[in-house]
Amino acid sequence: MNAQHTRPRWNGAHLGLLAGLSAWLVTAHLAGWPLGLAALIATAGTLAWLAGAEWLWPHRDEWVPSRADLRRDGAWFLAAAVADSGAKWLVRGAALWLGPWLAAPVFVQDWPLWLAVPLALVVGEFGAYWLHRGEHAGGWLWRVHALHHAPAAVNLTNNVTIHPVNVLIVDVVRVLPLLLLGFSAEAVVYAGVYAQAQSFATHANTPGTMGWLNYVIGTAELHRRHHSAVVAEALNFGTAVPLWDQLFGTFRFRRTGEPRLVGLSQPAEYPSLGDLKGWWLYPWRRARTAASSAPAPDNRGFTPEEIPCSSTSIRTPATRS
Ligand SMILES: [Zn+2]
Repeated sequence: MNAQHTRPRWNGAHLGLLAGLSAWLVTAHLAGWPLGLAALIATAGTLAWLAGAEWLWPHRDEWVPSRADLRRDGAWFLAAAVADSGAKWLVRGAALWLGPWLAAPVFVQDWPLWLAVPLALVVGEFGAYWLHRGEHAGGWLWRVHALHHAPAAVNLTNNVTIHPVNVLIVDVVRVLPLLLLGFSAEAVVYAGVYAQAQSFATHANTPGTMGWLNYVIGTAELHRRHHSAVVAEALNFGTAVPLWDQLFGTFRFRRTGEPRLVGLSQPAEYPSLGDLKGWWLYPWRRARTAASSAPAPDNRGFTPEEIPCSSTSIRTPATRS
């Protein structure tokens, strides 16, 4: 059971998630439910929906997580949750501290949510895009981010195979500008719900294409290319929207196929995937090799080895060389 599944026309799991979340947030808004509660239920619903879809219809069988993978990602998930709540306090404190020095254009506070939420999503993604691009440029930021690329799979729980320091800095660059620009709490929280859902959906091992929507929102098709083991094609740094990739020349979309191998290009140069302590300390270890310090992707027009989208028989190797 190593074959890639036949690709249906649309990725129903991703489309259904966005439709369901939108219905939920509209309901929560109209009913006046507490923001924190609405967001928490949205997170739980996102995870349950995508986990069910992955379990019933995995896109690639070899990407289905083992029990050991789930235990490992459970540990990183807890660390991410702690970092996430720490980031909330940090962001609020920084906004209070910096606020008086900035003349925030508070008019966005009064914008209707249907306008403010998409705008907050795109503005928040700007900081996340440049941070992510900086992480792939090498140095200390890459050592913080490398863990996220360590699994040789792209699936739902791999979204949280991420160093808590990475979670903290992404949260800050994504949310702090929104507070300083004067977005309402509701717009910031709802944009955060969509950003988080997009992050999970773009990692989900669910079949199907998002078609023309690949040019409008982040998709698994775009993000699998970002996780390619071929360093030179690990572009597509956005997860919520591809706009900044499109504007700054890092957008790559091919309808015909997806990377055969995902993960680190030289895994032997890094801690083993199950070595939680090794990965926890990795950002503070001295870079031993070029591989652990500078991935530096840049490859206009490069064509890597791919699995055709329509294939039902091509088998992927169990190990990488
Ligand atoms: Zn990355």
